[in-house]
Amino acid sequence: MAARIGGRRFAATRGPRVPIDPPAGTAPDNPGKGKEEPMMPNGCFEQGPIRPPSEARSLLIRPTRNCPWNKCAFCHSYKGARFQLRPVEEIKNDIAAVRDTADRLEEISRQLGQEGRIDDVVVDAIFSRDSEHRFDHAVQHVAAWLYFGAQTVFFQDADTLIMKTDDLLEILRVLRETFPTVNRVTSYCRSRTACHKSVEDLRRLREAGLSRVHIGLESGYDPLLEFMRKGVTAAEHIEGGRRIMASGISLCEFVIPGLGGSRWSREHALATAEVLNEINPDYIRPRTLLVRQGTTLYDRMTRGEFQPLGEDDIIREIRLFLEHLNGIQSRIASDHVLNLLEELEGKLPEDRARMIGIIDRYLSLSAEDRILFRLGRRQGVYRRLDDLDDRQTYLRLKGVVERGAGNEPEKLERYLYQISQCFLP
Ligand code: SF4
Repeated sequence: MAARIGGRRFAATRGPRVPIDPPAGTAPDNPGKGKEEPMMPNGCFEQGPIRPPSEARSLLIRPTRNCPWNKCAFCHSYKGARFQLRPVEEIKNDIAAVRDTADRLEEISRQLGQEGRIDDVVVDAIFSRDSEHRFDHAVQHVAAWLYFGAQTVFFQDADTLIMKTDDLLEILRVLRETFPTVNRVTSYCRSRTACHKSVEDLRRLREAGLSRVHIGLESGYDPLLEFMRKGVTAAEHIEGGRRIMASGISLCEFVIPGLGGSRWSREHALATAEVLNEINPDYIRPRTLLVRQGTTLYDRMTRGEFQPLGEDDIIREIRLFLEHLNGIQSRIASDHVLNLLEELEGKLPEDRARMIGIIDRYLSLSAEDRILFRLGRRQGVYRRLDDLDDRQTYLRLKGVVERGAGNEPEKLERYLYQISQCFLP
């Protein structure tokens, strides 16, 4: 999912990087404008590198830095970065800085004749490269958030629930007081961390405004969790997930199709479905494996210790997984850019047959059409299988394959892999 603001499109999987502690009130460089003061200084609050795709319109606040575990073999997000709990006062200062930025954006709106509204005119001025004033990512981020109604907030980074409950409660209190429009606050959380929070503490957090947590379940198969150094067992996934659900906080569980490789594909699909059947989370979000260069898993793959599945086999694995989700009412959301079949979305159990039908339709395509669909999806021109009916695009992609890869499937696979790498932060 990507946000569109003022005619511009913004990537959904990566939050803006904002300098830590830039000098307060410093005017940005403004080449060609001499010493002229900008309309406002750049923003002064901190943000981490990633957020879930579904938080594209959320304000990003960073109570913790990086990941307290940081050992998963497939993960690159916080490699080499030390985990830190930020002091509560510092986070409150960040919230105050966002308030200050929002106030000054409203002032700009008035200067532009828009009566304090953050609308297309204001957003266009803030994001314009041609503007006589330049605004950093923090200011643009707040402008985008206000444009979309200033309703949702995401707490970064990988495991913010690891903070003391009372500290989180204080941050939630200040956030809600400062921005009364906020009606949803979400955070990542590890299952093991959820196991260490009492249901009562989680309830207090919900009452203070924490609406949803996103957990990286990845797999429910213990040997695979161990191989991937996930640092959690299937039993802990179940316990942590159940605690969140019992507290009334909405729960989203991420799973990784393809994580078991060719060795454990079946076991991964069946055990992951089994664990989710025990939790019955509100959302299940598949995020297809891409073995990222620079990860432990990549090194293992190059040494032959991990054999990744081909994309068609991953789709077959997802089919098996869906077949075995039973007795739950979760919603499947397939909004990650790495998922081949973006239209694979729906509510269980009523939409299961339709979702399996989409998979069967894909698998029944000719080998050539499957390749063309994969290429079109990776190039961002296909989103649904029906898009294959667009004859002009189809013929263009066919030409790309013939010219670029000819009869060399390996060359095409390398090309698809390289495009996919660009999707990750
Ligand atoms: S817990 Fe999450 S963020 Fe931390 S290393 Fe594992 S996958 Fe990465």
